[in-house]
Amino acid sequence: MAGRRPIVGGNWKMHTDREQATALLGALRARLDGLAGVEVVIFPPSAWLTLAADALAGSTLAVGVQNVYWVAEGAFTGELSAAQLGGVAKWALIGHSERRHVFNERNEDSGRKLRSVLAAGLAPVLAVGETREEREAGDTRAVVERQLLAAFDGVEGLAPGFVVAYEPVWAIGTGLAATAEQAEAAAAIVRDIVRARFGAATAEACRVQYGGSVNPANVGGFASRPGIDGALVGGASLDADAFAAICRAFAVS
Ligand code: PEP
Repeated sequence: MAGRRPIVGGNWKMHTDREQATALLGALRARLDGLAGVEVVIFPPSAWLTLAADALAGSTLAVGVQNVYWVAEGAFTGELSAAQLGGVAKWALIGHSERRHVFNERNEDSGRKLRSVLAAGLAPVLAVGETREEREAGDTRAVVERQLLAAFDGVEGLAPGFVVAYEPVWAIGTGLAATAEQAEAAAAIVRDIVRARFGAATAEACRVQYGGSVNPANVGGFASRPGIDGALVGGASLDADAFAAICRAFAVS
């Protein structure tokens, strides 16, 4: 929709060693720095956050963290807080499906994380999505609603352009992407829920990405849909040419 700037995120998950990360960051910068019409965010493993911030400094590519703990500081071995990431990461991913389903994060944890990310001045990408069983049971709307409303608990308003990533669990890393129709219908559900909670203006300004097996061959279908405002990309974000093609598809859409 006119007025919403597409945003594409590359979620590297727990991939890359230092050498690979350095090479990939350089290749991404070379291909994507200055690309107009799309916002690009790289989510490297936490070990490479500083490396990424240095490698992308002064470019139009931003750095995000894949996960945060919600307490600002304290005796929480192994955790990382949003408050510690000022000057390193601009964005924070919250509620990714692997956090929910591999690490048993609860819906209310997304709320704690969202509040801590907002308090630290980082920009959130809030990921939601249903499992295959939930979709087949006709529960997509109810699941997404529960996830969003729990995340929004205690949040008074969303900044214009707030980012939600709709990522059906069954499409992540499976090669079985949702159809563009399914993705746009789910984006409309997200926007309905945001509208009911925060009002029409916030909903219209809210950006909804699609994530789940996006690649250069299928991105055109998603990018051509006015209700889809970008993509969250896992596997294909590890290939600079593939990720650049995905970003360009949204830049020209
Ligand atoms: C993701 O990790 O958010 C994701 C969508 O992964 P993939 O693109 O590999 O399905």
